[in-house]
Amino acid sequence: MTDQTAIALNSNIAEVPGVGTKRAEAFRKAGIRSVADLIRHLPSRWEHELPEQTVAEASETIGPLHGAEANLAVRGEITTARPVRGRQPRFEATLQDDTGAVLLTWFNSPWMKGRLHPGMCIRAAGKTKRYGDYLQLVNPAWEIIDPEADTAAREERYRPIYPATEDLPTKVIEAAVDTVLEPALALLDDHLHEQYRKDRALPALADSYRMMHRPADEDETKHARRRLAFDELLMLQIGVMIKRHHRRETLSAPALTHNDAIDKHITDRFPFELTESQREVINEMVADLATSRPMNRLLQGDVGAGKTVVALYAMLLAVASRHQAALMAPTELLAEQHFASICDMLAGSNVTIELLTGSLKPAQRKSLLKRLADGEIDLLIGTHALLTEHVEFGNLAVAVIDEQHRFGVHQRATLRAKAGDETTIPHTLVMTATPIPRTLSLTVFGDLDISTIRRLPPGRQPITTRHMPQARAGEVYAHVAERIAAGGQAYIVVPVIDESEMGLKDVNTHLEFLSNGPLHGRRLAAMHGRLTRDEREAIMRQFREGQIDALVATTVIEVGVDVPNATMMIIEHADRFGLAQLHQLRGRIGRGAKKSLCVLIADPATEDGAARVEAIASTNDGFEIAEKDLEIRGPGELFGAKQSGLAPFRVAELPRDMELLRMARRDAAEWIAENPTLAGERDALLKKRLLKTHGEALGLGDVA
Ligand code: ADP
Ligand code: MG
Repeated sequence: MTDQTAIALNSNIAEVPGVGTKRAEAFRKAGIRSVADLIRHLPSRWEHELPEQTVAEASETIGPLHGAEANLAVRGEITTARPVRGRQPRFEATLQDDTGAVLLTWFNSPWMKGRLHPGMCIRAAGKTKRYGDYLQLVNPAWEIIDPEADTAAREERYRPIYPATEDLPTKVIEAAVDTVLEPALALLDDHLHEQYRKDRALPALADSYRMMHRPADEDETKHARRRLAFDELLMLQIGVMIKRHHRRETLSAPALTHNDAIDKHITDRFPFELTESQREVINEMVADLATSRPMNRLLQGDVGAGKTVVALYAMLLAVASRHQAALMAPTELLAEQHFASICDMLAGSNVTIELLTGSLKPAQRKSLLKRLADGEIDLLIGTHALLTEHVEFGNLAVAVIDEQHRFGVHQRATLRAKAGDETTIPHTLVMTATPIPRTLSLTVFGDLDISTIRRLPPGRQPITTRHMPQARAGEVYAHVAERIAAGGQAYIVVPVIDESEMGLKDVNTHLEFLSNGPLHGRRLAAMHGRLTRDEREAIMRQFREGQIDALVATTVIEVGVDVPNATMMIIEHADRFGLAQLHQLRGRIGRGAKKSLCVLIADPATEDGAARVEAIASTNDGFEIAEKDLEIRGPGELFGAKQSGLAPFRVAELPRDMELLRMARRDAAEWIAENPTLAGERDALLKKRLLKTHGEALGLGDVA
């Protein structure tokens, strides 16, 4: 298949002339299956190659002055090549063309030995200096060329360097791109129409790809990059806006009644005064809940900020309007705890509360579901078991999702308000203690309104955090023993439940070690995900009531667990946990009026591990930690980005492309206001590409 007109964008990479079956396999491994994939495989950088000159031209360029220099490139045959010993060991070669000879010198480059031989034809480029009547290139870049095949002197160019693998060197990719680029780009239509591009100084799609792969100068790469990055941001924003539009215009939620009497009725149930911060976010929320436009709100607030009562407020508002509310927690332990504390606050009221988790027996589950569908249950608390198909509410008005970072993004809308009614959905409140850096909140979560609790409830003592090496763990346990004797309680967190080969402390062995050693005579218990619900509940109750002094636990206690008297958090192998996790774990203490202490026991084995321990030890501020997390891990790993299943950006980078993101948001909003379903000829290609990239992850199938 040497006829280039036969190339299609969806042609298999194996059909590209020059790509054999073996190479095709290497391409496929690198994710390049088709010609279109190849075109989308962009250079990660460009090497500036100087234009070639003959030796005589080079001599003229530099001029006659001794010591004058210039950057240039020459090609010719190697006539001498030898290492030179002495005060300045070096490798020297002579390169000759029809017009003269130059000296090539490499200092401190022992690897040059044996690489060049007389008779080879090479191209050499770099800083060139005049010494009397000869020219010397110092440490030049060089490559072997085939004088038969490669006859034309090379122009200045920016040579693309592609992300490569051992089986697939950048030169091979470059050659394949050379073969297909022109014919393929001729087939590539633009989904942005010309006037739109003109107004924003964006190059056409095909031109952009040409400028990325074969730029004439640096400006072209910037120009092209801007278009391609903008494209990605725009696609995602349009997707998000379509969803938002759909929810706002075609779906509705029950409008809830709110007045002072209801407010008083609800807040009288809370054992404390709401803080100003909590009041503010409740007001923001109520403004949504009182309308039939479905709320889609993210409530962020650091660990211990008091998000639960805000959620409970919304839920009780639903109940006051004779509707139902649901609260979904990421773990059974947390669901159980929410259930217990909400039952406490509502003791003696006629609100019916139930708990639904995976450990319910089939018969219990069946009867619970029936009462739920009949509207007999007011508040349902549970785990992701709430999302299974058979859970049907009689008239759900408020759905709260706690600690969102544990759930995938598109799980959130699946709670249905009523059986058989596709257009009524509940108001949704998503809570997180892992703040989303602003940059990300505008992309993946662009359809959420955000409320933030900025201050912790009053009377909290700041937590002291210390990093200790493993060798000093004994001192830590001795201190824990002392504070337990004075009435304190502790969490001791280890990475695994069972003994493993990795030499990590595990719950069972560590519990045994502590109770026979440093914490002898103290009341210890294990807490982890393999205990049954009854066992966990019993232990948590005893711990809360002060009958247990310390829990040796896994990260099941990571989120939400709330025992104000527990003031010590010891995290073993702390470098093995993620930043958000460490922050969450530490958030289990510092909840009462007593001074709290968090100790990170770690001998970090990796740089990232050390950076995480250092970050946690240096600040208590969750927002700061989220930014550090972004620095250490990069945005791909962050909250939601991974679970969301959204296609990662190839070109766009945040926060670098913040300006483009703003422009994309503004444009997407206008676009969707004008053509909410992307109907018609003009947007057909855009729609097709949007559905292909984000259709599944954003659930656009039934919308656009
Ligand atoms: P988080 O935001 O981490 O979910 P919680 O809702 O669990 O925080 O609240 C943490 C602790 O603060 C709980 O013990 C809760 O009872 C308490 N709390 C919440 N709001 C207030 C308040 N306004 N005044 C005093 N204590 C509060
Ligand atoms: Mg919480």
